[in-house]
Amino acid sequence: MSNIIFLGPPGAGKGTQAQLLSKELGIPQISTGEILRKAMREGTKTGLEAKRYVESGALVPDDVVIAIVRERLQEPDCANGYMLDGFPRTVYQAEELGKFAKIDVAIELQLADEIIVNRLSGRRVCPKCGATYHISLLKNGEVCENDGEKLIQRPDDSEATIRNRLRVYQEQTAPLISYYKERGLLKAVNCEDSVEQNFQKVLEAING
Ligand code: AMP
Repeated sequence: MSNIIFLGPPGAGKGTQAQLLSKELGIPQISTGEILRKAMREGTKTGLEAKRYVESGALVPDDVVIAIVRERLQEPDCANGYMLDGFPRTVYQAEELGKFAKIDVAIELQLADEIIVNRLSGRRVCPKCGATYHISLLKNGEVCENDGEKLIQRPDDSEATIRNRLRVYQEQTAPLISYYKERGLLKAVNCEDSVEQNFQKVLEAING
């Protein structure tokens, strides 16, 4: 089972868990949010198109992200499996994905709403490699463990934007839970424990 989707509200830990699972299974983590942020930093055509949506917490148009994922999955490192983190986010994206990929399992990370705002507002990211941290767990100041870069706060992790992203999740992405359940592919994991404990549950869900 190696073509894996991570579903769940922003802040549930999709990026963190996908990062760990990527190391464990030796398959790439494909984060559409990360690809879009990189395109924005580099000022590419896609980046310029995505900017206003990402910054307000709205979804980037389906066709833009579908094209990104379709292209990325053709890279040789995806031959033995991959993890999609943050894609699909609408039923239309899931339907299109089904035309060019075979998904083995969709892991739904569950987390109560009130925990999300705290997690996201304390989140820091490495602008160079994309690794994510929570300020309460940083031991050596706000620098990245991988490359020593100074960590930053994502502009869309401000409280007002977080609330908008949660609304967008409920309206547009949550229907994917039934979509994958109906296809017998859904595994739910409660993610209110520590990162390590949650990761054990993710591994059990994948292996079980
Ligand atoms: P994330 O890093 O997954 O929280 O994504 C950050 C932002 O990138 C989202 O709030 C959207 O604006 C955009 N984005 C990422 N993935 C998608 C997607 N699959 N569809 C539409 N917009 C996306």
